[in-house]
Amino acid sequence: MAPLDFESFYNVIDGKLEATAETRHGINPATLEQLPPVPVSTRNDVNRAVEAAQRAAAAWAATPIEERKQKVIQYADAVDALANEFGKMMTLEQGKPLSHAIGEAHGAAYFLKGFAKMDLPDRVVEDTEHRRVVTRYVPIGVCVGIVPWNLTFKMGPALVAGCTIILKPSPFTPYCGLKMIELAQQFFPPGVVQVLSGEDSLGPMLTEHPDVAKISFTGSTGTGIRVLQSSAPSLKRITLELGGNDPAIICSDIDIPKVAARVAMKSFVNSGQVCISIKRLYVHSSIYEEFMAELSKATKSLVVGNGMNESTDLGPIQNAMQYERLKDFVASIKRDKLTIAVGDLENTFSTGNGYFMSPLLIDNPPEDSRAVVEEPFGPILPVLKWDTEEDVIHRANHSADGLGASVWSRDMAQAERMAGQLQAGLVWINTHQELQVDAVFGGHKHSGIGSELGIEGLKAYCLTQSVIHDKDGA
Ligand code: NAD
Repeated sequence: MAPLDFESFYNVIDGKLEATAETRHGINPATLEQLPPVPVSTRNDVNRAVEAAQRAAAAWAATPIEERKQKVIQYADAVDALANEFGKMMTLEQGKPLSHAIGEAHGAAYFLKGFAKMDLPDRVVEDTEHRRVVTRYVPIGVCVGIVPWNLTFKMGPALVAGCTIILKPSPFTPYCGLKMIELAQQFFPPGVVQVLSGEDSLGPMLTEHPDVAKISFTGSTGTGIRVLQSSAPSLKRITLELGGNDPAIICSDIDIPKVAARVAMKSFVNSGQVCISIKRLYVHSSIYEEFMAELSKATKSLVVGNGMNESTDLGPIQNAMQYERLKDFVASIKRDKLTIAVGDLENTFSTGNGYFMSPLLIDNPPEDSRAVVEEPFGPILPVLKWDTEEDVIHRANHSADGLGASVWSRDMAQAERMAGQLQAGLVWINTHQELQVDAVFGGHKHSGIGSELGIEGLKAYCLTQSVIHDKDGA
């Protein structure tokens, strides 16, 4: 593997590293220091990348799937070998603790390899004396992945399926994405996997482009709707992975200290900036006080700080826009006069350098308060009481979102009965915020359209084609 430097960052178009006339730069959210310049792509860059992707598409689709998978595995090994470097870059640009970031880089390799284990066999529907009918999966062609993180969820299946893909990382966190695709050039032919960085205005240039056949988007529900609208005139295939407001339901028979500690992490890890964090917590009223005491203890023990410090549990909020949004969220908590179990509304934001925020636990707020209804995407957790299964299921489902949901109980019959009624794409029992490469992940309701991961996530980069052969017909 040729060495990679983590100091200069380029677009990758048609196998070549390219700088742009205009540049921008990210900010380290823990120090507010500028990170290195990154490209600001133009419409001309978009057009050239799409043309290169089209040129590369036929040969890549014709490459045997076993060969494509081999290349994905070799690439995954290279990502894994550089996990420490990617992890450091991730902490600098995103803020999360270094150990979590290194784990995520290893995770990227795991997800790539997981897709490389999947197959797309033809399905023989009929094979009789006079007829043979087969359904096949053929690659869609030129795809675009718009991602805030985990671009492997899009890149892995696209490459295995035989598509070419252009990735657009978030303007706030472009660095690891640009380097990942630079590294990919050592394994894939020019034009097969490319990357463009830029401002938010780059997104529409890609979603409008008539020669892009598919968009896979991860981000907020509002932007997802714009992506859908902009893709409609050219009838693009679409996958949308959008926001969530995940409920977790705690039943009365659990081990209170153990579950409270786990729930604190599954709510506040990455400072709540995870689509599948616990965002509404329903605790059975018979254990509410005791559970709240343990959850408060676990929450208070979380250390907020620079992700480069070993003791840090929660890094900063990723960017200024989200930090301001959270300030507005906290102002509405004050206006609504909600009871705070942990945290101090006057001092929850740091006054020094860095977008730091201490976690807030809200004690039994009204079900219709903003803190319960809206995804904060920050370390704010409302805790609510419940008495009957019917009532808590109704409240958990009473949301426009349907990304993830969990039930925590030692009574398996109760857990499965309740889990079976939850309206979400991922339902966990006695855990939350876990993804597995071979288990499909896709939001219900306003949390998305289509799915990623699992064989369905691979088929999302394919068109179906049935071949009906009349053996006597000619
Ligand atoms: P965002 O919607 O602000 O931005 C996402 C991406 O869209 C960015 O790359 C941005 O540049 C781009 N973009 C902006 N305007 C565009 C347009 N008009 N057309 C095309 N692209 C455009 O989201 P974010 O702040 O990066 O992420 C936070 C949100 O993402 C949260 O709601 C979170 O729950 C959700 N999320 C969902 C998943 C999931 O898998 N379901 C995963 C992570 C995050």
